[in-house]
Amino acid sequence: NSPLAEVDPEIFQVVTQELNRQRNTLELIASENIVSRAVMEAQGTVLTNKYAEGLPGKRYYGGCAAVDVAEALAIERAKIIFNAEHVNVQPHSGSQANTASYYALLEPGDTILGMSLAHGGHLTHGSPLNISGHYFNVASYGVEPDTGRINYDKVMDIASESKAKMIVAGASAYPREIDFTRMAEIAEAVGAYLLVDMAHIAGLVAAGLHNSPVPCADVVTTTTHKTLRGPRGGMILCKEKYGAKVDKAVFPGIQGGPLMHVIAAKAVAFGEALQPGFKEYQQQIVNNARVLAEALSERGFELISGGTDNHMMLVDLRNKHLTGREAEQTLDEVGVTVNKNAIPFDPQKPLVTSGIRIGTPAVTTRGLKEAEMVEIAEIIHLALSFGDDAGRRAQAREMAADLCRRFPIYEEGGIYAAS
Ligand code: PLP
Repeated sequence: NSPLAEVDPEIFQVVTQELNRQRNTLELIASENIVSRAVMEAQGTVLTNKYAEGLPGKRYYGGCAAVDVAEALAIERAKIIFNAEHVNVQPHSGSQANTASYYALLEPGDTILGMSLAHGGHLTHGSPLNISGHYFNVASYGVEPDTGRINYDKVMDIASESKAKMIVAGASAYPREIDFTRMAEIAEAVGAYLLVDMAHIAGLVAAGLHNSPVPCADVVTTTTHKTLRGPRGGMILCKEKYGAKVDKAVFPGIQGGPLMHVIAAKAVAFGEALQPGFKEYQQQIVNNARVLAEALSERGFELISGGTDNHMMLVDLRNKHLTGREAEQTLDEVGVTVNKNAIPFDPQKPLVTSGIRIGTPAVTTRGLKEAEMVEIAEIIHLALSFGDDAGRRAQAREMAADLCRRFPIYEEGGIYAAS
């Protein structure tokens, strides 16, 4: 008696197919996670019906008493988690959070200095394909060819040469800890704002496993669905002095009505992040990433920067004579999901690439620990290191299926068991 199955069997089928995919494959995409049933339930509620332009207690619509409580709880919990002065939980996504932050503090034509997309930055950090690269003048920094790491002295030089008005720190594919204090010193030295986009590492920051940008950055943006394990969405944290500007930039600046069902789910996820188990979960993500990185290295895989400090690693596949696209496809066939990813100074085109990005947040939610990370490294090795060897690929597929059976999700005996 599912209304969805009755009203729209085609979409019901899509949801069923996706649930089965999530149950039966190992999710190693670094930006994904597996939310609790409580987070999911909050999103599928009558709160989706409500218009609530404005902020709690200051709305442009009547009937907001209940949703006001949801948004106030989300804000309060986020303030506690990150020790932030001001929080806006309305951005529909990480990209919206970044765009609103630029709109709050910059004028068109100002210079932003962000990490180059080709070296691990995000589209919204100044790519010419994104509004950030179209409306602003862009300078960029990258990583060193020999170390795969940011050279902060070079960032300082580029910041002063480019007369940057805002420095953007944070990345989508950088496996090392970023020194936000150093970035703040550079920003201060050149008179620029510092925006930190902590989307990937927000959960680690919440758990105290990565230095926090909140005390030293003017504005911090994040997604809520990566390591933080909430619903798909964005958030901005900032100093009180920028609070009014940031709020105005989100609404009416770039958005209309907030998604109150998603904001309620953000509140639920933040409540989960305040539980003691969350810190253990984040620690396990980091431990798992280290073990997986070592086990891959032992099997001849080359990692950019030689390893990882956080939840992800970037594999350079050139010594395996594979492109990122080929590796992504082969791993898909054995039940392991990753994404192809450019490596720094990649000779291949963006849709081909020489690398894959691997992250541990989702498999860690599933309950996998260090021993299983070694199994995953072996699966990847069997699938990628022996050409088209069908026997080894079949073995890899069986090992992946076995891990999925031993660590079920959204079903009896597993995490988020079906009710
Ligand atoms: N910032 C960083 C560092 C990201 O990695 C991402 C997404 O991958 C975003 C922002 C954008 O988030 P969204 O996809 O929610 O717009």
